Amino acid sequence: MLELPINRLATVAMLAILVIGGILAAAPAWGPFFLSDDVAFFTAPILGVVVAAPAFAALCLLVRCRYCRYRLFWHAVSKRSHRDSVEWFLRARECPQCRRSTA
Ligand SMILES: [Zn+2]
Repeated sequence: MLELPINRLATVAMLAILVIGGILAAAPAWGPFFLSDDVAFFTAPILGVVVAAPAFAALCLLVRCRYCRYRLFWHAVSKRSHRDSVEWFLRARECPQCRRSTA
């Protein structure tokens, strides 16, 4: 992972919150098997969005290149293919904008 201006642990924690929020937001797909319909179709998706949206915004705004301030997380989700975006984000060794390596 690139060296970031914010704490790596904080970045991973926000990613985890984003994933948890995403899972909750998808509750209508899996929730009816485990939860009551009210929770599966209403409470869980709303909670998921409420939790995931700030984590997503924070990742986009805070996770930047140390040198050129390029938004690395935004690059991962918008420029990379959906399949490898998170993997790229976790494994990137150089900034895609200024090519400075921080590894
Ligand atoms: Zn850079």
